[in-house]
Amino acid sequence: RRRAAADRVTATESAAVAERMRAIAAHLQEADQRKTQFLATLSHELRNAMGPVLNALSILDRSDPASAASRRARDIMREQVGQLRSLVDDLLDISRVNSGKVRLDLQRLDLGDVVGHAAAAAQAGIEALGHVLVLRLPDPPLWIVGDRARLAQVVANLLGNAAKYTPRGNGRIEVEVRREGSRALVSVRDNGLGIPAADLGKVFGMFEQVERHQSSSQGGLGIGLALVARLVALQGGEVAAHSDGDGRGSTFTVSLPLVENEPAPTPDGASLR
Ligand code: ADP
Repeated sequence: RRRAAADRVTATESAAVAERMRAIAAHLQEADQRKTQFLATLSHELRNAMGPVLNALSILDRSDPASAASRRARDIMREQVGQLRSLVDDLLDISRVNSGKVRLDLQRLDLGDVVGHAAAAAQAGIEALGHVLVLRLPDPPLWIVGDRARLAQVVANLLGNAAKYTPRGNGRIEVEVRREGSRALVSVRDNGLGIPAADLGKVFGMFEQVERHQSSSQGGLGIGLALVARLVALQGGEVAAHSDGDGRGSTFTVSLPLVENEPAPTPDGASLR
């Protein structure tokens, strides 16, 4: 009878193992499909960026270098090559992060200062699309430990998405740095396309794109937010996405631990904490 019991356990166990293997196989197949899809998207992105460069070159071939047409062609080339470069930079960063080769230069930083500079750098591009950029920084400053350039990259990425996924001309993009308990928060809010609830959990995944937006040909590779999430995590923080759904805008919030030991007293002497 003991033998029969042992056989039963083995049968239950092997059913569990088979079930686990099926789950793993399904997972691998899904990852493989996303990679295949990613390669297709990457090829399209590269090809799409090169078309205008080739056109611009042929304009240069037959135009006076000082003409308006030549100038315009050179502007197009600069813009397209710039886009290609940032796309390739993202790819390089992702592979560095994935192989653990990103080196962070960690320092005590005034988060409002870092975010303010990053927003100022992005402002002209955002306004060129007809959006308004609103910035709210804390006073007194909030101190965190992070890598200045990588934090600026995170903010630039979130601002780029906010501008990209908000219909041209009526956007309001708000960047705020504030304190919540023992954490410093950076939020980037837009009034654009929004993200359907079912997709909110996926946007930080590698190669993940919200279909609806792709079909309206927004471009991109689906690696920007994956990179954001990894860079924030490397600095001891977290990032979350919120949206009230279609057309209601999105908010991305980065949260980092404060390093302040002594909270500044409020005017009436009470602690800020
Ligand atoms: P990409 O922009 O290259 O597609 P990301 O990783 O930056 O990739 O973003 C993943 C997806 O999340 C995007 O395809 C887009 O659908 C969605 N998304 C990101 N930011 C926003 C935003 N501010 N508003 C609406 N959707 C967004």
